[in-house]
Amino acid sequence: MATSPKRGRVLVADDDPTMRLLMLEMLAQVGLDGIEAEDGLQAVASFQSATPDLVLLDVDMPGMDGFSVCRAIRKLETTASVPIIMVTGGDELESVTRAYEAGATDFVSKPINWPILGHRVLYVLRASDAISRLRIADAQHRAVLAAIPDTFFRMNKDGYYLDYEQGHEASSVFATDICVGRHLSQVLPADIAGHMMEQVRAVLDTQHIRSLDYELPLPGPAPRVRQGEHPAPPPSRHFEARLVATGPDEVLGLVRDISERKRSEEQIRRLAYCDSLTGIPNRQAFLETLEAELARSRKANKKFAVLFMDLDAFKRVNDTLGHHVGDELLQAVAERLCETIRYGDLVSRSPANNLARLGGDEFTILIPELERVEDALNVAHRVKEAMRQPFDLLEHEIFVTASIGISLYPEDGEDCNSLLKYADTAMYHAKNCGKNNAKLYSSSLTMQIMSHVKLEVGLRKALQNDELYLLYQPQIDVPSARIVGFEALVRWRHPERGVISPTEFIPLAEETGLIVPIGEWVLRSACQQAMAWQQPGKPPVRVAVNLSAKQFKDENLTQSVISALHDTGLPPELLELELTEGTLMDDARATMSTLEQLRAIGVYLSIDDFGTGYSSMNYLKRFDVRALKIDKSFISGLPLDSENAAITRAIIAMAHGLKMVVVAEGVETDAQLVLLEQYGCDMVQGYYLGHPSPPDTIHRMLANQCALAMT
Ligand code: C2E
Ligand code: MG
Ligand code: MG
Repeated sequence: MATSPKRGRVLVADDDPTMRLLMLEMLAQVGLDGIEAEDGLQAVASFQSATPDLVLLDVDMPGMDGFSVCRAIRKLETTASVPIIMVTGGDELESVTRAYEAGATDFVSKPINWPILGHRVLYVLRASDAISRLRIADAQHRAVLAAIPDTFFRMNKDGYYLDYEQGHEASSVFATDICVGRHLSQVLPADIAGHMMEQVRAVLDTQHIRSLDYELPLPGPAPRVRQGEHPAPPPSRHFEARLVATGPDEVLGLVRDISERKRSEEQIRRLAYCDSLTGIPNRQAFLETLEAELARSRKANKKFAVLFMDLDAFKRVNDTLGHHVGDELLQAVAERLCETIRYGDLVSRSPANNLARLGGDEFTILIPELERVEDALNVAHRVKEAMRQPFDLLEHEIFVTASIGISLYPEDGEDCNSLLKYADTAMYHAKNCGKNNAKLYSSSLTMQIMSHVKLEVGLRKALQNDELYLLYQPQIDVPSARIVGFEALVRWRHPERGVISPTEFIPLAEETGLIVPIGEWVLRSACQQAMAWQQPGKPPVRVAVNLSAKQFKDENLTQSVISALHDTGLPPELLELELTEGTLMDDARATMSTLEQLRAIGVYLSIDDFGTGYSSMNYLKRFDVRALKIDKSFISGLPLDSENAAITRAIIAMAHGLKMVVVAEGVETDAQLVLLEQYGCDMVQGYYLGHPSPPDTIHRMLANQCALAMT
């Protein structure tokens, strides 16, 4: 309201003209204008027309007396009330009481002390002005409070609610009547009440605004949890209370429901830190966890390990079965990893954060507080085993394996990026060592990579220098116990390092493309050897040759098979080509046409290392191969390992269902042989029946068998 010193106007109502004159004179003395009214009716009319700032009203007037005028004026007013000073005949209490009852602001009694009346009028005017300003301020405050959604309350310094006004948008957690007159601790949960009380004191001490966030459970029954679902957190709402001192002993609190904001913050956090496909932490989140672990371990002088896992056949799943299956598989992998490390004895601290998907099919696991390196290897093996169990997705059963690299703090590196990089390098190393593997990064790995390079140079010369040779391992037909074939297994006699295993140099040969000439040499030598073993009148012997994926993709493959058979004279049905699942899965269309050409030649096709790659039987069916070789990793634990026994048995049954011959690899004991025979396995191969051996040993074996057969 404007406070400019305007001249006030005073309505003077008195039937006595002398009195009116004196009053006007008095008003002029203090700088006020007067308006006269001779009786009650005129007073009411002037009040309406002239809107005075104050009324001086004589009680005793003929007709309508002062009390009636006062009541009439009060009735006319809607908002502000104009001060009315009644002029009473004497000091008697009765008229004073009646004056106030009629709505008077003040009174003076006759005889009038004129100088004092002037000041009194001024004082009342000023007070009235202040009151109306207050009223406007109050109305503004109420309007502001009504416009903001917050709940507000007043509270005294001891924590008692003096006032509580529910905000119009607030979820009603408390009703007003619950709060007013009560102490904080009777309304809010103890911990929140305690915190709020601290803030109330701080606000009163400092006279600065303070705020606090808290979460309150929503009243009502907990939501039902459906079977197989994680129980959702109970419904609750987040609030923010801002406290401001309104006096030395009182605070005003504004409480806002910030649940929506919290939800969006949480969502943003999730987007920034969660892998959207699997819901587990992403690279960013993992790096932060790693950073924190690094700091903690450094301080506490502890070790930790970083595991880097990569699926061995993921690209193939994507390429052959489609991205939606790939996505589904990744989700299932994440879930399985969570379970695997959740129940881990090692990873006790918030396991969910110790797992992340970096992208693609790469996952990382942090193992804090490592005591021994073996513990990290144990986790890696547990993860590997977990991955090997078939994944039952909507329409496919998928087998995968994982390669895992491990780096250690502080041995391998002192910062997050190096540790992650080294774990990655170790993972590649694991893959090169035949996949389904776990390897530690160690400084010696770098040296190994160096020697890898040297090896490659050597391998290039191996063929020319005649350093490659073949060993043959017998394959026995179970029912007849006869040798029906041999698998050709290549060896490299390195001039300095001695004999090198194919598991070491075949991946290298694949990488460098040397596999094509080497493979061709193996094919030709094996055919030649097999031809030499055939004896007229004796059952024929087959030779099996391993084909690697690169070889299979080589466009000249069919031609080299044809010419090897032609040049050596070996009948095509005596040549078996072993392909791995991975080879078949790589590119379905090209695979089909190559297989078609090979079948047309009449060679015998089989799938090697079955169960270690990815494949569903159903998928393999369409390749129409003759035999399936169960990987030795399933056989090695038999007969004790009941799980592998069940898998082996199932594979045999399914393969027979598809009219395939089943060969068990890696048979090392009599008990394994007995069990496999019981399961109906058709053929066996393994140390128990014969090690990979040079041709002359094989020759003797065959001769013995013939001799046995003749006796
Ligand atoms: P593979 O084709 O699965 O061959 C079987 C492997 O198991 C051979 O290892 C063999 O010596 C081994 N083995 C046989 N019986 C037993 C047993 O009772 N117990 C155990 N523990 N192992 C047994 P090897 O000769 O070291 O060959 C390893 C792999 O290298 C082969 O696995 C094959 O994938 C590859 N390979 C070997 N020769 C060639 C080749 O000429 N060309 C290609 N592309 N790959 C080859
Ligand atoms: Mg093989
Ligand atoms: Mg094999």
